[in-house]
Amino acid sequence: MGKPSIIERIAEKLRIIPNLHDQVEPPLERLTEPGKLTKFPPPEKWDHWTEYEATKWSRKEKRNYMIVPTTCFNCESACGLTAYIDKDNWEIRKFEGNPYHPGSRGRNCAKGPATINQITDPDRILHPMRRKGARGSGEWERVSWDEVLDDIAAKIRKALQEGRNNEVAYHVGRPGHEGYMDRILQSWNVDGHNSHTNICSSGARFGYNLWYGYDRPSPDHAHAKAILLVSAHLESGHYFNPHAQRIIEGKMKGAKLITLDPRLSNTASMSDYWLPTYPGSEAALLLAMAKVILDEGLYNRAFLENWVNWEQYLKALHPDSEVTFDQFIEKIREEYKDYTPEYAEQESGVEAEKVVEVARIIGEAGERFSTHNWRSAASGNLGGWCVSRALHFLNVLTGSVGTKGGTSPNAWNKFKPTFFDKPPAQKFWNELHFPKEYPLAFFEMSFLLPHMLKEGRGKMDVYFTRVFNPVWTYPDGFSWIEALSDESMVGMHIALTPTWNETAFFADYVLPMGHSAERHDINSYATHSGMWIAFRQPVLREAARKAGKDFTHTYEVNPGEVWEEDEFWIELSWRIDPDGSLGIRKHFLSPYRKGEKITIDEYYQFIFEHTPGLPEASEKEGLTPLQYMRKYGAFEVEKHSYSKHLKQLSPEQMQGADVDPETGVILKEGSEIGVMVNGTPFVGFPTPSRKNEFYSQTMVDWKWPEYAIPTYIKSHIHPEKLDREKGEYVLVPTFRLPTLIHSRSGNAKWLTEISNRNPIWMHPEEARRFGFKTGDLVKLNTDIGYFVDKVWVTEGMKPGVIACSHHLGRWRRPEDKIGNRWATNTVAIKNDGNGGWSMRTLEGIKPFDSSDADSKRIFWSDGGVHQNITHAVHPDPISGMHCWHQRVRIERPGPNDQYGDIFVDTKRSFENYKEWLAMTRPAPGPDGLRRPLWFKRALRPTEDTFYIKE
Ligand code: SF4
Repeated sequence: MGKPSIIERIAEKLRIIPNLHDQVEPPLERLTEPGKLTKFPPPEKWDHWTEYEATKWSRKEKRNYMIVPTTCFNCESACGLTAYIDKDNWEIRKFEGNPYHPGSRGRNCAKGPATINQITDPDRILHPMRRKGARGSGEWERVSWDEVLDDIAAKIRKALQEGRNNEVAYHVGRPGHEGYMDRILQSWNVDGHNSHTNICSSGARFGYNLWYGYDRPSPDHAHAKAILLVSAHLESGHYFNPHAQRIIEGKMKGAKLITLDPRLSNTASMSDYWLPTYPGSEAALLLAMAKVILDEGLYNRAFLENWVNWEQYLKALHPDSEVTFDQFIEKIREEYKDYTPEYAEQESGVEAEKVVEVARIIGEAGERFSTHNWRSAASGNLGGWCVSRALHFLNVLTGSVGTKGGTSPNAWNKFKPTFFDKPPAQKFWNELHFPKEYPLAFFEMSFLLPHMLKEGRGKMDVYFTRVFNPVWTYPDGFSWIEALSDESMVGMHIALTPTWNETAFFADYVLPMGHSAERHDINSYATHSGMWIAFRQPVLREAARKAGKDFTHTYEVNPGEVWEEDEFWIELSWRIDPDGSLGIRKHFLSPYRKGEKITIDEYYQFIFEHTPGLPEASEKEGLTPLQYMRKYGAFEVEKHSYSKHLKQLSPEQMQGADVDPETGVILKEGSEIGVMVNGTPFVGFPTPSRKNEFYSQTMVDWKWPEYAIPTYIKSHIHPEKLDREKGEYVLVPTFRLPTLIHSRSGNAKWLTEISNRNPIWMHPEEARRFGFKTGDLVKLNTDIGYFVDKVWVTEGMKPGVIACSHHLGRWRRPEDKIGNRWATNTVAIKNDGNGGWSMRTLEGIKPFDSSDADSKRIFWSDGGVHQNITHAVHPDPISGMHCWHQRVRIERPGPNDQYGDIFVDTKRSFENYKEWLAMTRPAPGPDGLRRPLWFKRALRPTEDTFYIKE
């Protein structure tokens, strides 16, 4: 502390302010050395850590803590957290970062520490609840976990005994668990995995998969010379905080940051080049850059020659050409001759010179070119998958695939655990998840479930939703309400959730599952060029164990009776098969105690004992692998993971293998295992050619020959398809605010305090055209209804495009259980009985009495507007991705329109579903297949189910 000023000195003497200058250094050991705020408590002191209570400043009140590591669950990055557990009352006091986590390295975004809000939220669900009245009526009663388990188990057992395996499904919002649920569902022999992925990332995944059999990129930003982002990764997206730190590291070492986004995001504002592309034009711009790289000879000849299936391309599309690499270059220059920088400018609005300038930077970065596309353009547009395909094309051209500073496949950096037992693949194919119309859909067609149920394609008898809120998050939420309210479509709906949400209101059981620090899980994500595994553990359970307390299940130590899915699934599976006759029980027997039910500790013990390097590292510290993970919360499996395609096949692997003389593909027992390149057998990539596939025979075989090579598809919101005279614009509804996450942050007071409204971003040109100023009401008419929001006039939006963030507008009805009062409007919902649904805000957010004094201090009243519910479903006919961007007609609201008003016609939305369905080219494909065998499929069933049987 510096010298006091005279005024400070007088004020201190008069005791107007505390006299801190006369105080000597505290006798207590400091958490940090002066000036070194990055220093964490050393792990040997984690069992007993003392520091001053911040809220008692300037008194020096000591508090004793036990520090237990876990991981954050507020986005998909799974950053490390350390929970500070107060030893006086054994409650969690706060969360900080975990310096031993290789992905996040001790750092978190605002959402990490805000986990404490979710844990102490006075509105959280503390006990299992069962509905009393009609589904959706808002009446609930408390039940015991035993009743819950017995009732659900009996219903599942009946379905399985009657062969109705396809009527049991689990629909997950935020996944995790690394294979845990696959094991459960396959032990039940149900094709019951449904995910949120087709409203999230399927578009990008499909584009990547076509290229190299991996569906996600893992950029090595920290070592790159040029970084290209089709999204806003410094502030949101996969894997936000771990990526953001490495992007900045790369930038500090001189990397150029290039961002494609029609919105001046925080990321765009930090970039060297902000390219505000018209939504949906991104592939055209990227292909124009590819053309510059090709024309100017900036490509990596060695990589292209060895690791691209150019011979196959020439033979298929140019059979009269010589099969030489130079011919290949000549032909692809011809292919892309129309993708001039001027054409890119025409489509995207980005100046042609800028396109050339950036293309040269990319070409010069060569192998050190890292890229990422997550959601954003690939999830917004018809043909959005072409964006990631075009983006990866730039990586291929520069040879930056799998290199230091380049972009690797995500799977190279993601750990796959070994389980104590692996049930066989299920013998069912659920067409409610993978219908014939979408044979190439990269994940389940989850957002069409209500439409398919209405169409009579099937039924859900037991339907679990887990950390999943489709009524609010998905497009066309009123169709979800209709389906969930109808017991002939959904027999029993069980919502596994930490908090009340719009979907849980329409459940039969609402089962409280723990927040991040209240549950088990393992995480491993492609945050950088290494590989790690992290342990999400229920920290109060670990503290109780250390304190020698007696308990069996996690709900005995969590607040109320909050449980966790891991133990719940074990107990449920056990009860579905009480005598073992269904063949389920045997998959839940302890690997350590013969014939007895496995415990959750044993489950993770086995995984950690089989994690490469972890037993050795643990032994050095005198710990078992499980003890090591409980102590540190994370382990680095590989420091770097580059060029894994260059792994050579061993002589043993080559024994009995055949090499295709034409393609060099190495086959063994009917499967491709590698490829010969210049006489060496390499593992290569998991595609039919084992190389990067510039030419996709798969697209040809599955009736889309026009997309055999990377191309550009004009989006459903291309300017040619909008009528400006009628006020039609594109609405970009996909961007995230850095402090919020879908519908999971509604019960975090610090986060909703920061962000609590979602106005329409509008450029001054549009504002002038319609006569809007900031704060005015605007009515946006979608294809199935409308919503009324407020305008925010900003030059941070590209002219001709409007945008709205996708987190806000949470609601509850007066009859619903009170929940998330920090973020929910109270609304009235009316149904005219003929498909017409309206919503009106009765009351905004207001202060309330609770155990948390802050609830009386709420100063915001605006909870935003629920836009997604007015969106029509737009399934891309190829990737299956919901194309989020909406054509909207902007108009001034009428005298009866109010802020937050919503209207949707679900009959119209059903017609819209049919219109998009008509764009598909259904299975069967070659040999009567429903799906290419080489494509990944979530919860892959037996191979015979891939064939359509008459
Ligand atoms: S980026 Fe933020 S929300 Fe996501 S896991 Fe890390 S700390 Fe949590």
